[in-house]
Amino acid sequence: MNQNFETLAVRKQTERSQFLEHSTPLYLTSSFVFEDAEEMRASFAEEKERNLYSRFSNPNTTEFVDKIVAMEGAESGYAFATGMSAVFSTFAALLNSGDHIVSCRSVFGSTHSLFTKFLPKWNIKTSYFKITELEKIESLIQPNSKILYAETPTNPAVDILDLEALGIIAKKHNLLLVIDNCFATPYLQNPIKYGADLVIHSATKLIDGQGRVLGGITVGKSNLIREIYLFSRNTGPAMSPFNAWILSKSLETLSVRVEKHCENALKVAQFLEKHPKVNTVKYPFLKSHPQYEIAKKQMRLGGNVVAFEIKNGLTAGRNFLNEIKMCSLSANLGDTRTIVTHPASTTHGKLSVEDRLEVGITDGLVRCSIGLENVEDIINDLNQALNN
Ligand SMILES: *Cc1c(COP(=O)(O)O)cnc(C)c1O
Repeated sequence: MNQNFETLAVRKQTERSQFLEHSTPLYLTSSFVFEDAEEMRASFAEEKERNLYSRFSNPNTTEFVDKIVAMEGAESGYAFATGMSAVFSTFAALLNSGDHIVSCRSVFGSTHSLFTKFLPKWNIKTSYFKITELEKIESLIQPNSKILYAETPTNPAVDILDLEALGIIAKKHNLLLVIDNCFATPYLQNPIKYGADLVIHSATKLIDGQGRVLGGITVGKSNLIREIYLFSRNTGPAMSPFNAWILSKSLETLSVRVEKHCENALKVAQFLEKHPKVNTVKYPFLKSHPQYEIAKKQMRLGGNVVAFEIKNGLTAGRNFLNEIKMCSLSANLGDTRTIVTHPASTTHGKLSVEDRLEVGITDGLVRCSIGLENVEDIINDLNQALNN
């Protein structure tokens, strides 16, 4: 029987133990035992699918992976200690020296460092396209191009890339389409529907949703996940069973949490749009968003991140942060607590002004990850900080 998202989230569970517990227990064990020599041999030879050692698999990580696989409509997956280990291991497992990546210019900061500082050590180079120039992608493709990589919505400017268009280009040129779906979560957007071969999440953000643990996952086609699994089982970036247990619990409430995050975010965006100290607001489900139609097509709701541009640039942006009373100044996002950041003076402070502007980071840009406080209280805090 095909179950719906919310049902899968709560009902997809590891088989009950002898104690018939209702809620999945925590399996804090590094290894598993065998009945006899033959079972041990068959298990190591992979003739039998079972848990051997928690670097390879564990009941808690398997439950977490199975849920995300079902939610994304994927074939299989592997869970990692962090979102970045998912990103790195995916590239490391699938690329050879001399291969080439075509990527969207605005990607998560550490992914950008991977492209510019680390992958080049193995002679893997990356070419970039801007979100507004999908038509340029084809001119960037080389005979050695292997992966087309993108994030949508993007961080921190909340731009939207057309997944359907990316899927068509990837298919035409025989590239693997890899999408970092972190900002949308599996509840809001499923890139596999549009032709993605692999979908990556940082589970640290909305999937955990409570700012407690780090985690990451890659899901997608079985043959690719097999390569990623073999790389990872030997190199050791596995998610801990404890984190998997927490994250699997978090998934049970993902849909209701994300609905509320998005409802609050839309109200905040609508409030900011009318505020005299604000130049522009970017939120995917505001009609004024440049890619509103695409967002409506591929996302269930607009997400929890709102970006806005304060009048008078850098000083006004920094003053705004200093006047904030309730919301947190923090680098995380997707928490129950609303978080505000000023990318130009913090996360993207090392970039040149030109590089910043290329990815939409103006001096007055503020990024808000809208939480689950009462929305009136969030708005009141932002309002008093803007007016001070
Ligand atoms: C946070 C984040 C990551 C990295 O995840 P970690 O769990 O912090 O390693 C990757 N991609 C995006 C879009 C993110 O927001």
